[in-house]
Amino acid sequence: MSVLLLITSLMAGPVTALDPKRDVDQYIHEVWTSQDGLPQNSINGLTLGPRGYLWLATYDGLIRFDGERFHRLEDERLPGRRLRIIGAHSHGFWVSGELRGLVFFDGEKAHPIANHDNEMRWPLSAAIGDENRAWIAANNGLFRLQGESLEAVENGLPEGSAMMSLARFGPRQRLAVAGLDGVFLEQSDGRFQPLSVGEAAGMHVYSLVGEKDGLWIGGDRGLFHLRLNEAGDQRLESTEWHWSDRDGYSIRALHRDTQGNLWAGIQGLGVGRVNAGGHQLFTRDDGLSHHSISAFFQDPEGSLWIGTDGGGLNRLRDGSVIAHGGDGSPLDHSILPMVADSRGDLWLGGVCSGVHRFRDGEVIERFNENHGLANSCIYSLLLDDQNRLWAGSYGGGVFRRDGEQDFRQIALAAAAGSSEDQADDIVVTALHQGPDGSIWLGSNQGLFRYHADNDQFRRLEGSETHFIVQIRLEDDRLWLATNEGAYQAPVPDGDGPLQASPISDDPRLRGARVREIHRDDAGIWMGTYGAGLQFFDGEALHVLDQRHGLKESVISRILRDDREGLIMSGNRGISRVSRSELLEVIRGERSRADVQLLGTRDGMRVAETNGGGQPAGLRDAQGRYWFPTVDGIVQLGGEEDTLKLRPPPVHIESVRVGGEPVPVDDTVTIPADRRELEVRYTGLSFIAPERMRFRYRLGETSPWVDVGNRRSLLLAHPPAGEYTLEILAANEDGIWSEQTARLALQVKAPFRETIWFPLLLVTAAMIGLGGLSALGLYRARSRRRQLERLVEERTAALEQANAQLSTQASRDGLTGAGNRRQLRDRLKSNWRDCAERGQPLSLLILDIDHFKEYNDAHGHLTGDHCLCQIVDALQGLLRPQDTLVRFGGEEFVILLPGVDGTEATTIAERLRRRVSDLGIAHRASPVARCVTLSIGRASVHPGADERSNELLRKADQALYQAKEKGRNRVWPSAVRDDQTPT
Ligand code: GH3
Ligand code: MG
Ligand code: MG
Repeated sequence: MSVLLLITSLMAGPVTALDPKRDVDQYIHEVWTSQDGLPQNSINGLTLGPRGYLWLATYDGLIRFDGERFHRLEDERLPGRRLRIIGAHSHGFWVSGELRGLVFFDGEKAHPIANHDNEMRWPLSAAIGDENRAWIAANNGLFRLQGESLEAVENGLPEGSAMMSLARFGPRQRLAVAGLDGVFLEQSDGRFQPLSVGEAAGMHVYSLVGEKDGLWIGGDRGLFHLRLNEAGDQRLESTEWHWSDRDGYSIRALHRDTQGNLWAGIQGLGVGRVNAGGHQLFTRDDGLSHHSISAFFQDPEGSLWIGTDGGGLNRLRDGSVIAHGGDGSPLDHSILPMVADSRGDLWLGGVCSGVHRFRDGEVIERFNENHGLANSCIYSLLLDDQNRLWAGSYGGGVFRRDGEQDFRQIALAAAAGSSEDQADDIVVTALHQGPDGSIWLGSNQGLFRYHADNDQFRRLEGSETHFIVQIRLEDDRLWLATNEGAYQAPVPDGDGPLQASPISDDPRLRGARVREIHRDDAGIWMGTYGAGLQFFDGEALHVLDQRHGLKESVISRILRDDREGLIMSGNRGISRVSRSELLEVIRGERSRADVQLLGTRDGMRVAETNGGGQPAGLRDAQGRYWFPTVDGIVQLGGEEDTLKLRPPPVHIESVRVGGEPVPVDDTVTIPADRRELEVRYTGLSFIAPERMRFRYRLGETSPWVDVGNRRSLLLAHPPAGEYTLEILAANEDGIWSEQTARLALQVKAPFRETIWFPLLLVTAAMIGLGGLSALGLYRARSRRRQLERLVEERTAALEQANAQLSTQASRDGLTGAGNRRQLRDRLKSNWRDCAERGQPLSLLILDIDHFKEYNDAHGHLTGDHCLCQIVDALQGLLRPQDTLVRFGGEEFVILLPGVDGTEATTIAERLRRRVSDLGIAHRASPVARCVTLSIGRASVHPGADERSNELLRKADQALYQAKEKGRNRVWPSAVRDDQTPT
């Protein structure tokens, strides 16, 4: 398979994306946390790998996601468990980790990058490029990787400055690098110049997004946009703050999607979106799982993935359906009838909220009792050819609005010559204008026709007993959907009588509550409330329901699309189905139709649509479909833009033969005696993984076998021979993979299937049973050899892992300080040495004050960076014989051999001051405006008998005192420098 081809198909623009015109809460939002199998809820980066999997870096390793299953990658070349994805390239991505390593991961294997001379300091925050040429933003500056060489880049950058983000921008794709000392832009001579525009100068910058004509800058002062002038040269056209620290906004992550939305992770708040339409927020109130955003990524299907620091994974995407309504919105009502006017406005009848005029996603006008609508429970609407709006109510008759006037009541007369007005108890469920201009009204008390001469409706004789919910005048006939069956009648003269006859005498139709009559060249389709989709072909009635693939038996409205599809609304959502498939089912040529049900997963706020009045849904001039629901209305785009055209990549993930795992990348040989083959595979479409389908074949000449949405295959007896197993996947729209996943198989025939078998039988018969037992012996020997080889391999892997462990064993990954294991060893040796020389030994425990709040206010990344800064500062004041270890998250221990209590207190005080002098801003500390330490101190004159635990405990108690007394101070254990630790 061509790698290049695969990459281009993965990188092709998304086919459905995040429509900037939708409100952020109109996107479909989903969350995955550890409850869904995500191994760890802090996401330190995410991206799509070259094979189409989504990859997540967490504090618990590198995680692969196929839409259904999270799988932790075991690769000993990964730099530890606390990992971070710091940059992506089309053929892989960069992973940095706490074991001070950096690898380029190509989707299958990690390729470590050597940090020559240990120049580059962790944490690393960003990388641009591939494994051969890359820029890397490190804690002590910018680095350039070229082939085997890794060198620090100065070129005008401040020495040793912590860099957090990289981007290319402008027409010439210049490099921008940013960090705690601001933003630096590459000049044509390769040198960097600090960006010094107004308030953005000197801000701590965490994220950059580069564009052709500018640069987005996110940091502790908010979000800043910088536009280049048209020539794209150095000069700036304009600069603009979007969210600023005046409102307390600090930006941790940025992402620009393919639709031109800019996404920002706003610390402590959530997600912000900027586009031409303005600014919107998506926060915990909207369901976001956490207020601290660590990373964004848009996949090729257009979905935006949002990694959080503690709340797992979120996703926003466009659904096929856009909902308008919901709590607090002006359309927070149950809607039933809807009509569209010539300028595209929708007029919506509310139950019971009057009439709403809806334009561009907003209610722009509302009509109720104050506008002449004496009854605001609207069950039917009609916009006639003179642009008059008719509204039928539940129990209040019918109203009409002429031009810009208020609504007024139109009289309903029970019969010709009767002046009795029936309005008060009539339920007007249907309104219709025929092609001849006649206007009709259907109700629980029969059918009425409008008479313009005396401006009233008069009931047709003989119609009283019909409860009519839909009227159509087509082909010079009246078609009536009623609460008891469907009827047709010749158009009567004057006031009747109505001579209605049932469309079919079939009792299933006569007893049905019919809501819709939809005629086409094949016959008459009828939607019912609870009695399925009924079809009359001119002779017989056919009833379709769940047994034939429909998702429900309520069908309130049937609309046609431009192809062969029917779009039907019901209680469980909106169904799309091919009309010709339904006809095939009716003709008995297939058993079920393939029905796609759109519901809450597709963007509906509630799945239940409304019906029983006319018209309960429409298709507008732009080809969009609209349906009323119990909470607002929903809109479906034209069909083209809802198709997910991207063919899903498909992969074989694991193979077992006779229950034993075997490598996937080679020809799999299946011995004759253990033929069971188990294959696990996956297809990568993330939008609706549960709606994917798979098929396989054994060799090019065999037929494809459909296996539904199962992602594993168990073949008890694959046929003997050499052939290739191929697997294909289709996404929910039936788009199949472009390439098959392939597994070369060599299936050995059992003896009785070979030509040797009969021969052997003859031989065995000739020489007796001895021959056969020799065969058995041979098999046992080869099994033992196989086992020995396995043990050898395993041992080698173990040794390698051990070697790596012992070099890593004494160091803390993040900060480079020692770890607890080193503390144990050093305490022991320091104790012994000091005891031998008769010298004192002091121990300090240091703990950062209010570090939890620091993380909350400044983000975990900055927290990590702060830990590194502190370790660097402390290390600078220690002697070579001193030991600094990271004892816990934000706690450190220092061993000072040969130092007595008094001197140790002085040193501790110096350390404390040094850290507060770093001036690392701590917005949330009640103690100081910057990061501070509390330090407990204990000292001892070690004796022969090692009591180092006691020393540690004393220091810890002293630390507790330091915290108690107000933090940001040193506290000595009781002053008694003798044998007993104090
Ligand atoms: P106190 O002044 O009482 O020490 O308050 P505190 O908030 O510092 O103490 P606490 O022990 O409650 O919280 C320690 C915090 O340190 C919890 C955790 O968020 C943070 N932390 C621990 N390990 C790491 C780390 O590796 N990186 C970062 N960024 N934060 C860490
Ligand atoms: Mg602590
Ligand atoms: Mg603390």
